[in-house]
Amino acid sequence: MSKKYKIAVIKGDGIGPEIVDEAIKVLDALASVCDFDFKYDELLMGGNAYDITGDPLPQETIDGCLEADAVLFGAIGGEKWDSLSKEKRPESGLLRLRKELDLYANYRPIKVYDELIDASSLKKEVVEGVDLLVMRELTGGIYFGEPRAVEENRAYNTMVYTKTEIKRIAKEAFEAAMKRGKKVCSVDKANVLEVSGFWREIVEEVAKDYPEVSLTHMYIDNAAMQLVRDPKQFDVILTGNIFGDILSDEASMLSGSIGLLPSASVGGKVGLYEPIHGSAPDIAGQGIANPIATIASASMMLRFAFGEIEAADKIQSAIEQVLKEGYRTKDIADYGAKEICSTTELGSYIAEYVSKSK
Ligand code: NAD
Repeated sequence: MSKKYKIAVIKGDGIGPEIVDEAIKVLDALASVCDFDFKYDELLMGGNAYDITGDPLPQETIDGCLEADAVLFGAIGGEKWDSLSKEKRPESGLLRLRKELDLYANYRPIKVYDELIDASSLKKEVVEGVDLLVMRELTGGIYFGEPRAVEENRAYNTMVYTKTEIKRIAKEAFEAAMKRGKKVCSVDKANVLEVSGFWREIVEEVAKDYPEVSLTHMYIDNAAMQLVRDPKQFDVILTGNIFGDILSDEASMLSGSIGLLPSASVGGKVGLYEPIHGSAPDIAGQGIANPIATIASASMMLRFAFGEIEAADKIQSAIEQVLKEGYRTKDIADYGAKEICSTTELGSYIAEYVSKSK
C-alpha cells in the first residue's frame, strides 16, 4: 500500500510558481519510485492572494495548512504591492502564517557543493567542505516585541524573549547538534543587551541535558566576522530572530548562489519548507530561476515532516548528480557548466535522476 501524504502548496508570487512546479515534478518522480501518494492542496498567500481576496493570508490558507502534513512554499512579494499598508503587504501574510503555525524554529543548512566551489566570493580553501546549520528563533525577539511605535520625534521596537521561547529553540539546536557534529555556538550580544544575558543563562541550563554537545558563546559582531574568516569552525549556530536573519543571509553566500539553499520552519503542528530566497521579480517569467533551493526544501520536508530519510537522500543525491554532470541554470552558469538549462529543464534532469534511483 502506498504511503499517503497531504502537502499544502503555496506557490506565491514572482518566480514562486515556476520553482514550486519543479519541486512537485521531482516529488512526483519520487512517488513512483518510493510508492508514495502525494496529495497537493494549492493555497493562496502573498500578493496574488491580496489581488484575489483582499487579504495576503486568507483564513482558508491557514486552515488548509493546518489540515496538511507539511507546507511547501515558493516565495512572495513584488514591487506591485510595495505601496500597500503594512498589514496588506505580502510579507505580512508570511509573518502571520509563521505565527499561526507556531513555527518558532528556522533551520537553514548551509552546504557548499564541491562542483560550485568557485561560485563563492571567498577563497576555495575557506569554503571547501563547509557544512553548517543556522538555527534561528523565528517568532519572537525584536520583530514581534511590544511596545513598538513611531512617534513624532522618535521610534522604537522592543527585543523581548521569554524563558519558554529560549528553552524550546535551544532544545531544537541541541537536538540538531546531536545528529550532526555535536557543537552548538550560541550567538548573542550579551555584553550590551540584558535580553542576551538572559538568553545565555537559559541556553546554559538547556545544555546540561546534552553533555555530549559542546557549547560556546559568541557575540554577534564577532560571529559575523568569523563566518567569513573561518566558517568551518561552526556546526550549529543558535541565535535569535534578528541576528539569525542577518547571519543566515551572510552564511548563504558561502555557497555562491542564493538559488541553492533550502530552509525548514518547524515547531508547531505542521512545518513550512521554502527556499531562502525571495520572489526574484527581476527574473520572474523568464524561465531562468534556479529551482534547486526549492527542490532541496522538498527534500527537507521528506526528512523532517515525514521521516522519509532515504527518499530525502534520493532527492539530495539527484541534485548533486545533476551539478556534477555540469547542468546549470543561468545564475551558476559560469562555474563548470556543460549545459545551461532553463528552470524546467533543470527540474526535469533532477526528476530523471530521482526516477532512476532505486
Ligand atoms: P530575492 O531573493 O528575491 O532576489 C535577490 C537576487 O537573487 C535577485 O537578483 C534575484 O534574481 C536572485 N535570485 C533569487 N532567487 C533566485 C533563484 N532561485 N534563481 C536565480 N536567481 C535568484 O530578494 P529581493 O530582490 O530582495 O526581494 C524580491 C521580493 O521578494 C521582495 O518583494 C521581497 O520582499 C520578497 N522576499 C520574499 C521572501 C519570502 O517569500 N520568503 C524572502 C525574501 C524576500
